[in-house]
Amino acid sequence: SKPIVAIVGRPNVGKSTLFNQIGKKRVSIVEDFPGVTRDRIYMDAEWLNHQFTMIDTGGIELEGQDSLLASMRIQAELAIEEADVIVFLTDGRAGITNTDDEIARILRNTRKPVILAVNKIDTPKQEMDVYEFYNLGLGDPTPIGASNALNLGDLLDRVVESF
Ligand code: GDP
Ligand code: MG
Repeated sequence: SKPIVAIVGRPNVGKSTLFNQIGKKRVSIVEDFPGVTRDRIYMDAEWLNHQFTMIDTGGIELEGQDSLLASMRIQAELAIEEADVIVFLTDGRAGITNTDDEIARILRNTRKPVILAVNKIDTPKQEMDVYEFYNLGLGDPTPIGASNALNLGDLLDRVVESF
């Protein structure tokens, strides 16, 4: 069956925006699964003849889980369990937060490939904001601008190379 790519990250970093952009990006959408509650969380996509299924872990409702940190731990662990490749999405405008550190700590303990992406890098000038993300200990950060589909090709290249 197809490889599973999970998008992990705290609320508001742009997971849904990225998810929807990849779905547009022909990348043909082969099939949509019925969404759970609010968001569509599974989507089939394709890049350079590689087919895969994406999961937006942020769309998974965690019943009775009101602590952000606890939700993030569960989402990261779910992704590690379910996915073949994990895209860890962060926000280049906000910089590294404590929650990012916690997610990174969990993701550093998997042998599955983790691709670190820094979103909201909308202009070349903002690419400087990416360097601090090396501190997460997850290798090279890939700058993207999900709203305008900036650099998504580079990110998807990294994703399919790790299958
Ligand atoms: P999620 O909670 O991680 O799913 O984040 P959303 O996709 O809902 O996005 C959160 C907010 O960030 C929204 O207001 C988006 O419009 C905004 N956003 C997403 N991607 C970008 C981007 O590339 N640049 C900027 N400036 N804002 C973005
Ligand atoms: Mg979302």
